[in-house]
Amino acid sequence: MRIKTTVIGAGVIGLAVAERLAGSKGPLLVIERNPAIGQETSSRNSEVIHAGIYYPRGSLKSELCRKGRLMLYERCRAAGIRHLRCGKLIVATSPEEESRLEKIKRQAEANGVNDLRLLSAGQTRQMEPLVRATAALFSPSTGIIDSHRLMRHLAARARRAGALFFFRTTVETIRLRPDGRYTISVRYRDGKTDTFATDQVVNCAGLEADRVAACAGIDIDACRYRQHFWKGEYFSCDLPAGFIKHLVYPVPLPANVGLGIHATIDLAGRIRLGPNATYLPDRQYDYTVSMENRKLFHRAARRYFPDLKEEQLQPEMAGIRPKLQKPGDGVRDFIIQEESGKGLPRLVNCIGIESPGLTSCLAIAGHVASVLEAGPV
Ligand SMILES: Cc1cc2nc3c(=O)[nH]c(=O)nc-3n(C[C@H](O)[C@H](O)[C@H](O)COP(=O)(O)OP(=O)(O)OC[C@H]3O[C@@H](n4cnc5c(N)ncnc54)[C@H](O)[C@@H]3O)c2cc1C
Repeated sequence: MRIKTTVIGAGVIGLAVAERLAGSKGPLLVIERNPAIGQETSSRNSEVIHAGIYYPRGSLKSELCRKGRLMLYERCRAAGIRHLRCGKLIVATSPEEESRLEKIKRQAEANGVNDLRLLSAGQTRQMEPLVRATAALFSPSTGIIDSHRLMRHLAARARRAGALFFFRTTVETIRLRPDGRYTISVRYRDGKTDTFATDQVVNCAGLEADRVAACAGIDIDACRYRQHFWKGEYFSCDLPAGFIKHLVYPVPLPANVGLGIHATIDLAGRIRLGPNATYLPDRQYDYTVSMENRKLFHRAARRYFPDLKEEQLQPEMAGIRPKLQKPGDGVRDFIIQEESGKGLPRLVNCIGIESPGLTSCLAIAGHVASVLEAGPV
């Protein structure tokens, strides 16, 4: 069988790409180092369908989030994937923060998100009686999704279209052959190695996406593809289900690398706080949640949940963001690049796919398909 496409990684991005390219575009393989789909960042996140409020105008993050959100809601509706368009409140707790709400609204409008509403303290209290705020910005199109169900749905559709999945298989090198195809070398869990040929490659390797690009011979420092790990911890909140009905976010600080410690609900109404953002300089896969951070989480959340007690917080889980910036660097966009310019035609790298990657997954898959189709520029 002549393999047309190889997708590296079976997180939500690899699965969405596989679903998009399988079948009509010829035989497709998905290579995944873990024993099952979605065992890394795609199952360690807030499961929020973002509206696309904060991203720089014209960026891929802004465009693909807005487009992806619409596609995702439509897919959830059509395929019966559990989700809830619960809406989100960005709450100000001081006059200084109130003035920033206006700015956030303008930024959102520049990004084509035109449904945000400014609320007074009283209006906010009506929506969320237990939240303290002097004003708020309401985003009705923000929601939550069962990301595990979404990934199972994408994998099943890709399989039905003929995609083959290889688990416990790690991609080690990618080499362009004289005939224009690629040789991919893989290592199985038992240490045995193997190679196969493919026409095109899509690198959706998440936290390892930069290293996979490097193993194709790309100088990831010269191209600014090097990723940096930022851990985000979560604490579950021992509050009754239904305590809040909307997601509650603080006003992000200008220098924040995340959105600030916020309160999300899951589809069962359980509340959790997080994520924070801790730089992991050694790129270790550290998924521990430090009890020492409980105080910090409590202090952050008490600004909008005044009655919350520290003892109500319990360590839950952590995820790691593959960011393109180190501490002190400016904001960076997603990189979704067809690499003909580097002498590697039909190789597409997806690098720095942090938030809003889950929201954007279907739009990212569409974008990958179009850059592959467009080929060399
Ligand atoms: C704390 C946190 C909160 C977030 N919250 C949200 C949110 O609320 N909303 C939102 O839209 N986004 C959110 N995100 C972002 C979102 O989770 C990611 O953008 C998305 O999951 C990335 O998916 P992925 O498929 O690129 O990566 P992954 O899920 O990490 O998948 C990559 C896969 O590649 C595999 N792999 C790696 N190297 C190799 C190799 N050499 N060979 C074979 N396989 C390999 C890995 O095993 C992995 O399964 C959040 C992220 C974090 C960390």
